Amino acid sequence: MSNKRDQWSSETQAVRVAVPPTAYGENSEALFLTSGYVQPSAESAAARFAGEEDGFTYGRYGNPTVASFEARLAALEGAPAAISTASGMSAILMMCMGLLQAGDHVVASRSMFGSTIKLIGSDLAKFGVTSTFVPQADVDAWQRAIQPNTKLLFAETPTNPLTEVCDIAALSALAHQAGAWFAVDNCFATPALQKPMALGADIIVHSGTKFLDGQGRVMAGALCASQELINQKFLPILKSAGMTLAPFNAWVVLKGLETLSIRMREQSARALALAQWLEDQAPVARVFYPGLESHPQHALAMAQMNGVGGAVLSFELKNRDVEDARKRAFAVLNALETASLCTNLGDTKTLCAHPASTSHGRLTEAQRQDSGISQGLIRVSVGLESLEDIQADFSQALASL
Ligand SMILES: *Cc1c(COP(=O)(O)O)cnc(C)c1O
Repeated sequence: MSNKRDQWSSETQAVRVAVPPTAYGENSEALFLTSGYVQPSAESAAARFAGEEDGFTYGRYGNPTVASFEARLAALEGAPAAISTASGMSAILMMCMGLLQAGDHVVASRSMFGSTIKLIGSDLAKFGVTSTFVPQADVDAWQRAIQPNTKLLFAETPTNPLTEVCDIAALSALAHQAGAWFAVDNCFATPALQKPMALGADIIVHSGTKFLDGQGRVMAGALCASQELINQKFLPILKSAGMTLAPFNAWVVLKGLETLSIRMREQSARALALAQWLEDQAPVARVFYPGLESHPQHALAMAQMNGVGGAVLSFELKNRDVEDARKRAFAVLNALETASLCTNLGDTKTLCAHPASTSHGRLTEAQRQDSGISQGLIRVSVGLESLEDIQADFSQALASL
């Protein structure tokens, strides 16, 4: 890796940071498909396995293509280091397994990604880790939820799908006062718009599946943190639990990072225009998008996200009751012709989903109501199609009601 890495601007880091090229001088980063590595000597092998010498040993522990992805992501986040995983959820599992033990307590936002709430609220409870879920934007509620055994505060900003924003600097300070770590899921904003570590976060969680890949091709995940946290807490879990990122997937996401910044700006510009247009449509009750002045934390979002709202918005349809809400949301989704009905986000194609029956379908109705995920809510991940085509599609779908 070039020692210019830290002087480069983010745009340059996004296309240049990687492990050094091989003797063949390939300009595009190589894809190393190998599960084992030939060791120079038995002594070296022993030193490498003991962690006393650098060098690759076995595919579960590391791979040069994976290392390039980690170095590039860490550079973009302004983080000392990164460690990658097979998916975003396995990154969260790695974080929890690395930092927590029975008797520990987690405070997390109640508006987090559905599987995150399930993992922390239910799956970890089986192993004696307790949790409290609090309203995302209410700093006092976070403070009140902290217990003597609280080890981790975990937020996602903006959240999926309601785009609620939290004050990263304020929650970092709270966590550190309590002697806890503060982790931020930066999936929605990405380092192109928001760098949580500069605001005090200890750990950044990523689903590489979303905007980092950016073209809806592979699953990936990562944690960014200090070298110490990675070496002492996370790498040992990777080695024993094996949630390793496949080299091919790492290569795809590595190349995705090269266009991250321009994609985020273009897609966010379309999302803002679509959000403003949706606010004026008769069947729409409410639009959730950080770039709108009507967003309750618009000012904080703009300050934290480099003045850009991101590429995901949600809107709620007017309705008579819960049943009517679901019927109307399904009708709009079924009428869309250009946008895909697809429970993913961060693609170059515009994707729409019904969170209450998909990403948040495993939550209880009470958990869903707590998180504000109503049956009339539709999430839109805005892609790179022309704004005119996207808007025309929503126009005809809303007209079908
Ligand atoms: C998708 C998503 C995840 C989980 O990532 P996977 O790669 O699907 O495992 C975590 N957090 C957020 C905010 C997400 O949108």
